[in-house]
Amino acid sequence: MDFTRLRLSGFKSFVDPTELIIENGLTGVVGPNGCGKSNLLEALRWVMAENSAKSMRGSGMDDVIFAGTSSRPARNLAEVTLTIHNNDRSAPTIFNDELQMEISRRIERESGSAYRLNSKDVRAKDVQLLFADASTGAHSPSLVSQGRIGSLINAKPKERRKVLEEAAGISGLHSRRKEAESK
Ligand code: ATP
Ligand code: MG
Repeated sequence: MDFTRLRLSGFKSFVDPTELIIENGLTGVVGPNGCGKSNLLEALRWVMAENSAKSMRGSGMDDVIFAGTSSRPARNLAEVTLTIHNNDRSAPTIFNDELQMEISRRIERESGSAYRLNSKDVRAKDVQLLFADASTGAHSPSLVSQGRIGSLINAKPKERRKVLEEAAGISGLHSRRKEAESK
């Protein structure tokens, strides 16, 4: 599965519709402090059905909606859409009829979130299922937030190794090796 495009509107500082084309290879997001780099990554986690407002740096999920500035009024709606190419058919089997998938999540103040997958209403659970393998998803260890870098550096080598192994998707191998050794 390749992430190819992220569209945001009314999400945190991205009040106007914004489109990020994700090319093959490494993507760097650069800019001055406070320009919205972390907000972009949060939008990606959010559309993958992140349900912790705290990990979005807010006290409630409505905090992801543009809160207004001295010159612009607040919004009542935020929407993020992620386009995925599934040419290699690596999505979980039940999604594999689809070559291109568009997942969108929108939130209205005091009404909660609604999800759509290729224009059909779906549940948060369905979106989580799409990203259920360990290397993607809102809780994937390959998404390392700003604060976690410091704690990773300060972690004991054993803990750090655990996180890196999870990110590399090889942690299952150890338990299977232990299982084999005990036989
Ligand atoms: P740094 O380089 O310091 O990590 P950054 O590029 O990661 O900065 P972000 O943390 O993504 O910056 O963006 C912070 C900005 O987003 C702040 O100016 C903050 O006011 C704004 N912001 C966050 N939530 C909202 C919201 N709901 N409405 C409007 N603006 C918001
Ligand atoms: Mg940041």
